[in-house]
Amino acid sequence: MADKKPIFTKQASSIRADGSRNYVHPADVKGHFTRRRNLVFAVLIAIYMLLPWIDIGGHPAVFLDIAARRFYLFGYSFNAQDIWLSFFLLSGLGFALFVMTALWGRIWCGYACPHTVFLDGVFRRIERWIEGPRNTRLRRNAGPWNTDKIWRKTLKHTVFLIMAAVVAHVFISYFVSIPELFAMMKQSPTEHMSTFIWIFVLTGIMYFNFAWFREQMCLIICPYGRLQSVMTDKDTVIIGYDSNRGEPRGKASDSDSADCVDCGRCVAVCPTGIDIRNGLQLDCIGCAACIDACDEIMVKLKRPTGLVRYDSLRKLVGGERKFWRPRLALYAVLGVIGLVVATFGFRAHTTFEAGLARLGGVPFVVEADGRVQNLYEIHVINKQSATHTYEIRALNPEDFEYVIAIPDIELKGGKGQRVPIFVYSVDGNDAAEVRLSVKQVDAESTEDDKVINAPFLRPR
Ligand code: SF4
Ligand code: SF4
Repeated sequence: MADKKPIFTKQASSIRADGSRNYVHPADVKGHFTRRRNLVFAVLIAIYMLLPWIDIGGHPAVFLDIAARRFYLFGYSFNAQDIWLSFFLLSGLGFALFVMTALWGRIWCGYACPHTVFLDGVFRRIERWIEGPRNTRLRRNAGPWNTDKIWRKTLKHTVFLIMAAVVAHVFISYFVSIPELFAMMKQSPTEHMSTFIWIFVLTGIMYFNFAWFREQMCLIICPYGRLQSVMTDKDTVIIGYDSNRGEPRGKASDSDSADCVDCGRCVAVCPTGIDIRNGLQLDCIGCAACIDACDEIMVKLKRPTGLVRYDSLRKLVGGERKFWRPRLALYAVLGVIGLVVATFGFRAHTTFEAGLARLGGVPFVVEADGRVQNLYEIHVINKQSATHTYEIRALNPEDFEYVIAIPDIELKGGKGQRVPIFVYSVDGNDAAEVRLSVKQVDAESTEDDKVINAPFLRPR
């Protein structure tokens, strides 16, 4: 019978038995995985800071202009009509993340989550530079408020506030663009109150999060963290302790003890304050600091590394890891569907829209001369950022007499215009359909004309 024991142990590392906060001060650690993480952090922070400055086709590489309901992504521009694409893109990316989690556990949390990237890559570094290593910090925090403690804390929180403001300003620049942000910064806040409030609130949230809340975000608030127990199983590669090799733990000099010397380094470096030797815990964010810490000890003791390592729970207890599992196949299929639809959607994305609608009121009018008149309205939207000219033409002028109110229209980027079209029957011709084409006619045209049909109504 399958072992139904939960794979996560129930243990809240951040809350003491009396409900108070167990404030974590992780120790510094060096090693293979720490170097990799630092490299990933540097690359991701550089991308975050530089993207708003990179201009592609006259707009930032990523610019979410919510006020104008226009979005620019690496040279492509989208408007509100394209919002359906984001559903497939986000669901595809979401399931890709599920696949990653089913395969490698919380690799996203440990290496690429913005919260981890900024907390470990920026704010904890600043804290280390100003307040020193873990033991010094713990000693100072437990001591009286003397001059040394006051200036270090004041400096740290001042730098934290500045950094929070910088991160918040860059974040807002994705929505207002860098030139607009600089222009606003030169003006009084009253001239752009809503942006000012956003930056003010975001700075406050980031300062609160990175200065105090920290790992509580991962443990209490993050929904992805809460979903771990349904996305991982015994074949997921997680960070685990090899208890077969490590237990019974004891002093290195004790001949009865196994490889774990109970030095506590793996606990001291853990940013969420847990003991990995207690098994897989929801509080583990997969940062791999305990692997580097334990490997350091094993190297010093001249024992093989990997007592704490990346492995599946099944392999850690001596079994064989299965790669393909139903959950992995399901996540992969759903992820591929989302990404394929999004890719087709992006490829089919057009630079302008044109729609034909019958105007309200009577469906047709019989004129005094016996001709039948139908009234339509064509709506043309320029989805690009520059101004373009569009031509509306009748495709079957032999079947009907067309009166197009404005046959050539010039539209600014992101703007649309409605044009009334009167269509009259021609004696002796019973054609059933009006046919119109809309075409961008300037030199930058990249698309074929759009052909629109609509039924022509007559008395029976
Ligand atoms: S247990 Fe290890 S991998 Fe998990 S959060 Fe702590 S240090 Fe990081
Ligand atoms: S760092 Fe390694 S040896 Fe030290 S307590 Fe943790 S598992 Fe045991």
